[in-house]
Amino acid sequence: MSKTWYPLINGELCTECGICVDKCTHGVYDKEKAPRPVVTYIEGCVQGCTGCGSLCPNGAITYFGDASQTGCGDGCCCEGGCNCTETV
Ligand code: SF4
Ligand code: SF4
Repeated sequence: MSKTWYPLINGELCTECGICVDKCTHGVYDKEKAPRPVVTYIEGCVQGCTGCGSLCPNGAITYFGDASQTGCGDGCCCEGGCNCTETV
């Protein structure tokens, strides 16, 4: 079964403060890369959790699987901008 919820980091907004990496206790971020947020274990992310994103001072974290967002996020296969109307 594919994972349906995990954080997506916007590298243009992120200032690498490390708050999100410190916050998560589920091993989603690679602590060895701190303070840079590197998502390495998406399977550990808790469905619906926004713990790291709510603490980010720059709004750099969104979630794959968040129905309030449209489009499929990073890795989108649409050319010239995302055309998707549902999360995948
Ligand atoms: S959403 Fe929650 S479980 Fe997932 S990476 Fe952030 S703090 Fe960890
Ligand atoms: S809390 Fe936000 S700004 Fe800080 S490292 Fe995480 S994504 Fe980047």
